[in-house]
Amino acid sequence: MSKATFAVSMIALGLGCSSAVMADTKVPVVTSFSVLGDLVQQVGGDHVAITNLVKANGDAHVYNPAPLDAKAIASAQLVVMNGLEFEGWMPRLLESSNFKGNKVLAADGIDTIKGHSCSCGGHGHHDDHDHDHDHDHDHDHDHDHDHGHAHGEFDPHSWHSIKNVKVYVKNIEKGLTKVDPANADDYQRNAALYIQKLDKLDVKLHKKIALIPEGKRKVITPHAAFAYMARDYKIDFHAPQGTSTESEASAGDVAKIIKQIRSEGIKAVFVENISDNRLIEQISRETDAKIGGQLYSDALSEPTGPAPTYLKMMEYNVDTIVNALK
Ligand SMILES: [Zn+2]
Repeated sequence: MSKATFAVSMIALGLGCSSAVMADTKVPVVTSFSVLGDLVQQVGGDHVAITNLVKANGDAHVYNPAPLDAKAIASAQLVVMNGLEFEGWMPRLLESSNFKGNKVLAADGIDTIKGHSCSCGGHGHHDDHDHDHDHDHDHDHDHDHDHGHAHGEFDPHSWHSIKNVKVYVKNIEKGLTKVDPANADDYQRNAALYIQKLDKLDVKLHKKIALIPEGKRKVITPHAAFAYMARDYKIDFHAPQGTSTESEASAGDVAKIIKQIRSEGIKAVFVENISDNRLIEQISRETDAKIGGQLYSDALSEPTGPAPTYLKMMEYNVDTIVNALK
């Protein structure tokens, strides 16, 4: 090798190193599931390198962390999770990863809805725990003192309210600013711009929902994931399964839903991207309700799917419901 070539090689190596250092200056962030992965990307922009744990179409209620997940958490500066006991596997993972960094509970400070692991035919939040929908928990819980079961006092699916997600975005902005104050202005600007988009979408979705008369806004889904959307858009959601996919629907829950579909003339039932849809297919067969489409409940779609971002997910869900009910 000539001296000149050697010098050029060293320069090339030098450039390689400096760009590697540049890449390393991105804030390593771990998010628990795909909706948060998108929200952190929106607020963090080019300043963050995100590792998202539960992937597109994955079920975050029953996730089994992989060794690589612990590794990602161990080297993260910030961990963003939903909270409200949505990710029941997360506390143990944080502990086993010996995580000492900052943590954002995205749902902190939102307007919560009380949760219930059994839908008991929808909005009937009564306290009859005698039926066997919850056999996994019967052994380790005293029901007299724990009506929230293992899944927490509140319904964790709060991202289905755009109002709540504006709080998520502010929490994420605060978390990123804390670990990377040098880029605080960017985080603030990105968050403000994204909140504008959220507000605009909320107005748009209210208009779409208004096309369906309030009394006809009746939707059946596999698990009870949409109480927050129900509240914002005055839609009546019912599910044979409770707020966690861990709980199983009892025969009684299913019979109740079927009866309700018949007596109220409910036109459509919906499948979900993350859940076992056999029960809904069975309910559809036993009633006149057709399958109205697939809703994205606890995860985004793959990038090539119809709901690869939070904004697209919300619009796709509303469009799917409106098209099936009109
Ligand atoms: Zn869920």
